[in-house]
Amino acid sequence: MIVVMKPGASRREVKSVIKQIERLGFKAHPIFGVKRTVIGAIGDDRDKHLLQSLSGLPWVEQLVPILQPFKLASKEIKKEPTVIKVGKAVFGGRYFGVIAGPCTVETEKQMMETALYVARSGAKMLRGGAFKPRTSPYSFQGLEERGLKLLARASQKTGLPFVTEVLNPEDVSLVAEYADVLQVGARNAQNFALLRRVGKSGKPVLLKRGPAMTVQEFLMSAEYILSEGCHQVLLCERGIRTFETATRYTLDISCIPVVRQYSHLPVIVDPSHAAGHRQYVTALSLAALAAGADGLMVEVHPDPARAVCDGQQALTPDDFSSLMRNLRTMADALKRRL
Ligand code: PEP
Ligand code: MN
Repeated sequence: MIVVMKPGASRREVKSVIKQIERLGFKAHPIFGVKRTVIGAIGDDRDKHLLQSLSGLPWVEQLVPILQPFKLASKEIKKEPTVIKVGKAVFGGRYFGVIAGPCTVETEKQMMETALYVARSGAKMLRGGAFKPRTSPYSFQGLEERGLKLLARASQKTGLPFVTEVLNPEDVSLVAEYADVLQVGARNAQNFALLRRVGKSGKPVLLKRGPAMTVQEFLMSAEYILSEGCHQVLLCERGIRTFETATRYTLDISCIPVVRQYSHLPVIVDPSHAAGHRQYVTALSLAALAAGADGLMVEVHPDPARAVCDGQQALTPDDFSSLMRNLRTMADALKRRL
């Protein structure tokens, strides 16, 4: 339920309504807009009749039911786009943020070289896996905490924040000690215990779409994170499973305007995992910007032929600079800021 406060309601009045919502057993999510404040009262659907009593409070203008099943992710509760700012990286509204780095952190030299190069070319956030979700238990699983330390060093050196994946609820505090943004990967996109745990971490979350998830399921997963009080959720389309085998997955470009239709959350695109081959990454990146995405996450490796994982889809540093030049030309035309 959306509790719409009367214009001019002070913080004190908002607080007292929040208290009342909590007394009824619901969580209160206040959104302070330019014109007025609304409070999302979110909880067990079966008890929603209890909220009717709020309409009698002096500073409450009206109660509006939220029709979508994803309540906090929905545009019904917040019409303006959510803009997520982490250090130099901004996603949403006019801003198009580019995240770049290797699939996985391998060595100090590899991580540093990549970080310095992508930073020079205009990336605003670093990426790199320290805990890797691998299809085979016999594949490299990541450097774990040592990888986090190398990411932190690269981040310090470049002044760019970094995002890295967390695989299990038990690892969230460790990863959150180092990372600026926590990534929930495609395979974990419906791991509800993990979604709840990252939602409590106090860090922004980059949520990948599962390869077999509908847009509605994607937004419901985001809802798990939002419902724990984390309002900085960055959605990431990374390709879905179809019958096509020429690419690793099929980039669902249409998901961008669809998410935009229903949600205020920013949505970025990972063209690397979608394509699976570096020669398609630039085309998909430009398509993402054209379709209204709020950013990109791209894999870059200084020597893709020797990459420990996903070398086929990694851009070389030179490919990445050329991608950034193309994006800049297009962003100018679309009045987006890179
Ligand atoms: C990644 O970004 O490192 C990754 C493993 O991607 P995905 O979860 O989309 O497969
Ligand atoms: Mn990868």
